[in-house]
Amino acid sequence: MNDTLHEAGKEALEHAAHEELRRVAAIRAEGRELSPRDRMALPTQAMPCQDSALRSRNMFEVAEGYGESQARLEAERCLDCKNAPCVKGCPVWVDIPLFIKKIREGDFQGSARVIKRTNLLPSICGRVCPQESQCQAECTLGKSLKSVDQAVQIGRLERWVADRERACGACDLPDIGASSGKKVAVVGSGPAGLTTAIDLRRAGHEVVVFEAFQKTGGVMVYGIPEFRLPKSLVAMESGLLSEMGVRYELNFLVGRTRKLGALIREDGFDAVFVGAGAGLPKFMDMPGENLVGVFSANEYLTRANLMKAYDRERAATPIYPSRRVAVLGGGNVAMDSARMALRLGAEEVRVLYRRTREEMPARAEEVGHAMEEGVIFDFLASPTKVLGNDKGIAEALEILSYTLGEPDTSGRRSPVPIKGSERVVPFDTIIVAIGNESNPLLAKTTPDLKVDKRGHILVDDKQKTSMDRVYAGGDIVLGAATVILAMGEGRRAAAAINELLA
Ligand code: FAD
Ligand code: SF4
Repeated sequence: MNDTLHEAGKEALEHAAHEELRRVAAIRAEGRELSPRDRMALPTQAMPCQDSALRSRNMFEVAEGYGESQARLEAERCLDCKNAPCVKGCPVWVDIPLFIKKIREGDFQGSARVIKRTNLLPSICGRVCPQESQCQAECTLGKSLKSVDQAVQIGRLERWVADRERACGACDLPDIGASSGKKVAVVGSGPAGLTTAIDLRRAGHEVVVFEAFQKTGGVMVYGIPEFRLPKSLVAMESGLLSEMGVRYELNFLVGRTRKLGALIREDGFDAVFVGAGAGLPKFMDMPGENLVGVFSANEYLTRANLMKAYDRERAATPIYPSRRVAVLGGGNVAMDSARMALRLGAEEVRVLYRRTREEMPARAEEVGHAMEEGVIFDFLASPTKVLGNDKGIAEALEILSYTLGEPDTSGRRSPVPIKGSERVVPFDTIIVAIGNESNPLLAKTTPDLKVDKRGHILVDDKQKTSMDRVYAGGDIVLGAATVILAMGEGRRAAAAINELLA
């Protein structure tokens, strides 16, 4: 990595923020506090990023994080609204105005404590929460300036506070209540499971987390790539649970290693939380999808993230040699797959999407980052079949062009195929990133557990399932959703279990 280049951007932003802070200090030296008008005039702090030409070939984190001056200046922009609408936009109710006020006052450790009262995974949430549709969407400043991009950058501040606390080696653990004598099983160690485990342990229960994989963290480890969410952070934040006394049982597939019902009937657990996620990839059901070189995004990203395919010498799986890669889909998973393919050495990566950029479900920032890095977008295009050679290896896609028709039930204009527009384009790797469904294992092996027709576990408003003492939350209930929504469901389930066991 070219340190000079990437440090220059960060340094320049930090320097500009430092100068602005001097003006803020001058106002205070005159004995007056900043007015809302003064705060609104302060510039929104940009996120320093690695240069796109460099980062597209390395696995280092793209967003580098604020420096202290940038964080302090961004904190000065908060209007400290009495009704705090931003808190209502956060699924785990972080006390946003208070943690930001503490940054302003220079009490960074106090700020971290405020966040961790309700969110023990702040480094993660600060990086991957879709803040623009959650806390920041509600920000009064953003609304006054008529752009969500101008809202107080809550996620970036949360990240900065958490990163700073870790860098100082001062991570406070939450208080743990006196032993309740009760034991709870948590199935799955994704954000839903981890959050539930934390709140259950706080209440003094013995907590065991059963995880099918060899590492904890769920999609945060095997799905979201290293360059957006460093795995050391996930390991550190999920490691806090071990320090709190939560026990992990890894390589343990509930439903196979042990049946769900047996955990309560035979193993003495007083309650169970199921946070098993939505890990079953969808395919397009087109001819040739079983050829060598066609991957689900799940498999592709798991090989790269969990098994470190990019680390050629030490990888637990060989890297699949790709030159021309097609990624099918328009969501965040498609963006992650395309950007990962570049980093694994592909010469050309194209995203094929049936609609246009406007209809893409991926976050605008992720699409922008992918474009900057050299990913090519073929809009209004989707494949009809994969063509292979006589050895069963994928060699090309037959692609059909589309136009946009009337809006469908999702409100987006529906793609209409253009007859006779088929063309054949050579690709050696095809990554299918059109979504995930619930893994059917638990439902199949637990007849009393009610699920809907898509396999999502049915729960009431306290996350209780059809089974006595069994609760569920996260993607297994919501379908593929977000980290923070999964955490919100985990908190609600833990509150209900704590009430049950009180
Ligand atoms: P998961 O994270 O899926 O965790 C479930 C865990 O349960 C897994 O570890 C699994 O191995 C384990 N498990 C499953 N079945 C069993 C069993 N029978 N026994 C034991 N263990 C079991 N969200 C965001 O907010 N921001 C993003 O930027 C973002 N990017 C994403 C990128 C990708 C590539 C993907 C795939 C998803 C992304 N998401 C993002 C979505 C987000 O990661 C999920 O919504 C979230 O992780 C769901 O949390 P969960 O705890 O419900 O499930
Ligand atoms: Fe916003 Fe996510 Fe932090 Fe809540 S946890 S304040 S939604 S960044």
